[in-house]
Amino acid sequence: MLPANVERDGMSNYPHLLAPLDLGFTKLKNRVLMGSMHTGLEETRDWNRVAEFYATRARGGVALMVTGGMAPNKEGGVFPGAAGLFTTEDITNHKIVTDRVHEAGGKIAMQVLHAGRYAYGPECVAPSDIKSPISPFKPKALDAQGIEKQIADIVTAVVRAREAGYDGAEIMGSEGYFLNQFLVTHTNRREDEWGGSYENRMRLPVEVVRRARAAVGQDFILIYRLSMIDLIPNGSTWDEVVTLAKAVEAAGATIINTGIGWHEARIPTIATSVPRRAFTWVTKKLMGEVSIPIITSNRINTPQVGEDVLTDGCADMVSMARPFLADPDFVAKAQAGKAELITPCIACNQACLDHTFSGKMSSCLVNPAACHETELVLTNAATPKSVAIVGAGPAGLSTALAAAQRGHKVSLFDKADEIGGQLNMAKQVPGKEEFVGLVDYYHAALAESSVSLFLGQTVTADDLTGFDDVIIATGVMPRDPQIAGQDGPNVLSYIDVLRHKAPVGQRVAIIGAGGIGFDVAEFLVTNDSPTEDLDAWLTEWGVGDPQNMRGGIRPEGPQPEAATRQVTLLQRKAQKLGKGLGKTTGWIHRAALQMKDVQMIGGVNYEEITKDGLRVSFGETRDDPQLIEVDTIVLCAGQLPERSLADALIAKGVTPHIIGGADKAAELDAKRAIDQGTRLAAQL
Ligand code: FAD
Ligand code: NAP
Ligand code: SF4
Repeated sequence: MLPANVERDGMSNYPHLLAPLDLGFTKLKNRVLMGSMHTGLEETRDWNRVAEFYATRARGGVALMVTGGMAPNKEGGVFPGAAGLFTTEDITNHKIVTDRVHEAGGKIAMQVLHAGRYAYGPECVAPSDIKSPISPFKPKALDAQGIEKQIADIVTAVVRAREAGYDGAEIMGSEGYFLNQFLVTHTNRREDEWGGSYENRMRLPVEVVRRARAAVGQDFILIYRLSMIDLIPNGSTWDEVVTLAKAVEAAGATIINTGIGWHEARIPTIATSVPRRAFTWVTKKLMGEVSIPIITSNRINTPQVGEDVLTDGCADMVSMARPFLADPDFVAKAQAGKAELITPCIACNQACLDHTFSGKMSSCLVNPAACHETELVLTNAATPKSVAIVGAGPAGLSTALAAAQRGHKVSLFDKADEIGGQLNMAKQVPGKEEFVGLVDYYHAALAESSVSLFLGQTVTADDLTGFDDVIIATGVMPRDPQIAGQDGPNVLSYIDVLRHKAPVGQRVAIIGAGGIGFDVAEFLVTNDSPTEDLDAWLTEWGVGDPQNMRGGIRPEGPQPEAATRQVTLLQRKAQKLGKGLGKTTGWIHRAALQMKDVQMIGGVNYEEITKDGLRVSFGETRDDPQLIEVDTIVLCAGQLPERSLADALIAKGVTPHIIGGADKAAELDAKRAIDQGTRLAAQL
């Protein structure tokens, strides 16, 4: 929420981003689009909840929002039961959403998403019967009649969107979905009028736009999401992209939005290790080729980045999706000249995409109220209390800010000289630079709040008298793996490496392959973070200019910088390393380390550490004993709750609230710490 007295001076900071855009029949109040996200909200059929999600963002000032993808028919749904506007009742329900958005002064377009061979079900259809590498289902190749039915269903969905009160529709033509599948020979091997030449392959998307425009009339926003760089073998050439853009414009699109990479591409496109605005240069190539507005997207997460993108002439508008989960008031805060108070999306995917792909409701690591707007509400406290919070990691910080927002008098203590707790180690890891922005945000938010902050204070139970509530958020301590020889000078903990920057040898063994083991490995093999250097990152992942190579794939493939150390990552479990990492990002961490020749060994017993390295054996019978010759061994063997203060308080008869790592260290992450802290504050 914005403080009441802030000056509205953002326009001078972001003149391009905040400028209106005239579409002729309607005007957008600024150049910010909230991109489509599948949150799972529509599937709850709790229309008040769906409406509140979008209305909250409309109140926050975004010019236009796009809903999650709505299926045009059963076979095109991303998964069985995917939401769509199939009945009159569906239209009535969606009207609840559009009315609420309009009352809030916003505009909203409905995305029509036909998944084609990405539809997770045996009924899926596609131009040809070629299975996708990311789906177990082989699609049925459509006959001519089947194609006509798909076009008619997509157009009907667009018409129903208009009936439901939407200001427009986005036709999803990128990311390797149905329309995209027609465009490239990778998935379209047809020999009829819908395949073969490019003119034939682009016929379907163009027909969809042409017929949709004819059906809805001129005064309805039609966005076409166009894949600008497929990042797959045999993807579109740049000439084809331009040809399609022109054809889509001629067919009646109002705006062209950018899609980057097919879902099956093995190149990250939105993860936190992708540099900010990594692909806006691709969209820029289309500027001037068409006369309708063009939107760019991917890894734009601050008003300044958005402004820079527009100033550089990369697009007419910017699309941000996850940043609106992180902060619904993104635009309002930019307008108010308070960008530092925007809760930043750190592109972690942990509570949004990882949830979606696990069949769970989306939310946001930094904003647990996202998609829970009707349930997690920070009301003014009936009786303001004095609250002591010990520990200014994510658990303590989120509790402090939320409690203060409710009117409680909060004192926040940390023994360290800085806020952030373990986030200060996370931000050292190459590819995790977004954590710097998160800690900066907490600084700004604390400064703006009424929280009294006491740093450099190791709090004892005796210090915590006289408060109405005491909250222990003291985090964790490293687990002691009790390996013979671990007291030697060649053994370090992850804290020594990341926090104290202890010298590390050339050959390293890492004990423990959880999130921290992987991060330490990345830290030890990387010199300069490619996330901070776009050219280096594009080279590392083998991304090239689509004008010179089909789909933007370099023929030579990924070309990472050589590893700065020789690292072996170990775990006791006899399973693939990194299995517990994020559902949508684990493959990136694994691929990044494999590119740097990190050895990954599972199923080991740690026998002994000597001056020459680490002795291991395998299996219950302790087979195949061997010495891994290394200079340094780094312990990343998990964590235990730091509860000494909580225990001391309980011994004195005080019952504190215990949150974050201090509560439970197993499978703890910042998502759980922040969620738990915010929910506790909501109830104080
Ligand atoms: P902490 O962050 O540990 O904070 C506890 C605080 O309490 C500390 O600041 C400490 O100084 C203070 N304290 C302790 N005792 C006292 C006392 N007696 N008096 C005063 N102050 C005290 N999580 C993710 O979700 N995503 C990631 O990508 C991710 N990456 C990570 C990478 C690394 C390298 C590390 C180390 C962690 C990572 N994590 C990540 C985990 C995440 O940082 C933790 O889960 C989270 O910080 C736990 O929050 P917390 O507030 O419970 O504890
Ligand atoms: P973790 O994920 O629980 O991993 C601990 C590792 O130590 C495992 O590989 C485990 O594997 C090993 N281990 C456990 N007990 C051991 C013992 N007694 N001796 C030797 N090895 C042992 O914990 P973490 O890596 O410390 O991470 C802490 C938390 O931070 C995690 O819960 C994680 O969610 C969070 N985090 C998240 C991210 C992210 O990207 N989302 C990144 C970093 C950290 P074996 O038992 O098989 O040996
Ligand atoms: Fe961004 Fe992470 Fe929140 Fe998703 S969970 S919106 S990636 S901060």
